[in-house]
Order: sequence, then structure tokens, then C-alpha cells
Amino acid sequence: MENCFYNGKEICTYNLKDKQHYYINELVEEWKLAANRGKLTCSECGGRVYLAAGPIKEPYFAHYDKQSCPYGNLTESEELKKGKRLLYTLLRKSFPDGEIHARYKMKNGLFNTCYVTNPKRNDIAIDYHLQHSSIVKFQERDKYYKDNQIIPIYVLGINKSCYDNQISWYENLIQKSIGFCVYLDSLNDKILLKRSFDYKLGSLRKIRFCQRSYSLDDITIDSKGTFICDFSDECNKIELLLNEEKHLYEQTIRFKNINASKMNEIRPDILETALECLKRGEGQLVSKRYMDYIIENKLL
Ligand SMILES: [Zn+2]
Repeated sequence: MENCFYNGKEICTYNLKDKQHYYINELVEEWKLAANRGKLTCSECGGRVYLAAGPIKEPYFAHYDKQSCPYGNLTESEELKKGKRLLYTLLRKSFPDGEIHARYKMKNGLFNTCYVTNPKRNDIAIDYHLQHSSIVKFQERDKYYKDNQIIPIYVLGINKSCYDNQISWYENLIQKSIGFCVYLDSLNDKILLKRSFDYKLGSLRKIRFCQRSYSLDDITIDSKGTFICDFSDECNKIELLLNEEKHLYEQTIRFKNINASKMNEIRPDILETALECLKRGEGQLVSKRYMDYIIENKLL
């Protein structure tokens, strides 16, 4: 569990480490003492919880008494836990004055990974999943965000398919919603941005992609949910190249058509020579195309 209540106020384990992943020991000490005095309670069942903050695993809150609390019984991989902390830290850095929540429960009962409430602008929600959810679940979530003017940022875990030429159906859903795909490399503290370009040259389908990796130290998010970096410039460069490629292709096709029509053209001087040949009885000298034309137009 990443959240619990301390004297009625929500606290989150993602605040226990700095950006270099060092513990803020004063805070660890304060929350451990608070747990000892029974002041830390589960935000879902109200049961007493304690803080575990060891050197290997991500810090977490756990119930003193193992009970049937859905939140307390959630099991998550260390990759997921660390990734969530990294995204939370990224939001805190990007919106120092914003109110940042981890595991935010929305009005429709769904949770998201991190949430920024912003009274002046749109709220921003981060959804971080290592596995794909179903298409129906994705659409339900996406519709809720759009209906409520919330800006979503969908984040996936890093895997081999990130480097594939074609994006998967799920990544395509994400790209259709937010314009690009985001992958979190939580092992190396990096964000990978990718946009796929699927286009046609005549009947030939082509796929290209733009992919850039950024250290989390070098990146922030603005109030429109955009990552502040050169990714969109790189995408624009690829789009320019694609447009050039399409333009060249269309030019080549036009040129071919012009040549083909020129090839089919009946030249009056050749036609005249052909007619003379025929009149002289030298029909074997006339090409089939001119002969056909002469017969078709009854020129003899
Ligand atoms: Zn609980």
C-alpha cells in the first residue's frame, strides 16, 4: 500500500525517497513512530498500519492484522511500485504548486496511478500499467477522462515490443487518445516516447516510427499533459520526410501517366507515312498500333 491516513491526512510512501532514491530518514522515523502510536490507519478499511522501509524493496504500508482489506491484499511487482513512485515524483517536480495524489479514486470508482488536481486548468491523470487492460476497460476509462475534461497520460512498462516497427492494438488505442505512446523504464529512470506513422504509397502500406528516450531528470510535463522535450520536433521531422516521400511518389506516378499517354498518342506525320505505305502495298511496314487506328477510324 502506498497511501494511509496520518491524523486524518493522507500520506504516501512515494514521498519517502528523493530523486536519487535515497530515503529521507527524518520522515521514515516520524511515520514509524506514528505507526507505533497507532496514528497510521488504512485509507480503505481504517485498520492500523505500519511502515516498512527497507533497503531493497520499495517502501510500503502494511496492516498489523492480516485482514480482508482489498487494498491491503493488493500484490504488485517491485517494477510497478518503483514506476509509480517515479511518476509521482515526476508530477511533483512538474507541478510544484499542484495537489498530487497517488492511487486516486475517481467519481466512477476507478483508480488511477497519479492525479494532479488543478483548479485553474484541466486535471491530469496518469495511468500506469505493465499489462494491457481489455479494450472495453480502456474505452470506459478514456471516455470518463474526455467527458470530465481530464487530460490522461497512459504509461506502459518497457518491453521488447517497444522497439517493434508496428505498435500493438493497445498501443494504437493510446496513440489515438493522446497522440503518442509512453513507456517507463523504471530500472534506468527513463521515459521512452514513441509515435507510429502508418501510411500508404498507392497500394503499398508503410510504417515508420519516431522514438526517443529521456532521463526522468531531464523531463517535465506541462499543464497540457505534454512532455517538455524535443520529441514533437523529432515527430515533425519524420512527418516532413513522409510528406516528401508521398509528394515524390505522386510526382513519379504523374510522370509515368504522362509518358504512357504520350506513348499512346497518334502522331499525324507517322500516320501519313503509314497511309502512304499502305497505299503502296507495303502494309508490313506499318506498326500494329497505327494499323489498328487506321482500321478503327476507316481511314483507307
Ligand atoms: Zn485496509
